[in-house]
Amino acid sequence: MESTYIMVKPDGVKRGLVGEIIKRFENRGFKLLALQLMTPSRKHLEEHYSDLSSKPFFPSLIDYMLSGPVVGMAWEGKNVVKTGRMMLGETNPLASLPGTIRGDFAIEVGRNICHGSDSVESAQKEIALWFPNGIASYETPLKSLVYE
Ligand code: UDP
Ligand code: MG
Repeated sequence: MESTYIMVKPDGVKRGLVGEIIKRFENRGFKLLALQLMTPSRKHLEEHYSDLSSKPFFPSLIDYMLSGPVVGMAWEGKNVVKTGRMMLGETNPLASLPGTIRGDFAIEVGRNICHGSDSVESAQKEIALWFPNGIASYETPLKSLVYE
């Protein structure tokens, strides 16, 4: 089964949106495999966003991500990487439909409150980076209620 890395960014944590974001993934039927509140180092964030290091917004992105603690999660489920991105909305919140997390709670790209892995490969890399001690594995009776 596929897993993805979802992170509530510092503005989302400070605005008290952690529960709201967790609730949406729980309600959809996805399974929580890891959860942590932490204050990452600059080096850790530069690693997480290494693909974007040449972008003009990279320094402001890192400063934004250093502005407070983040809440990182690993979620498991069928097609969870792509579905998770759909649930977050577009990178630019103003282009995000109502009903998505960014479309309901954010306005600007540099304050878009959440992160989601963009592919199965980056999800594997990101889960390994943020949860170096591993993630949970367990069965739930919800499985037969959520999947055919
Ligand atoms: N970002 C920004 N300006 C831009 C594009 C992106 O500040 O023009 C920030 C924004 O917070 C975004 C993050 O950089 O979420 C990572 O960019 P990416 O293109 O990976 O978007 P995402 O995958 O988060 O939707
Ligand atoms: Mg991205």
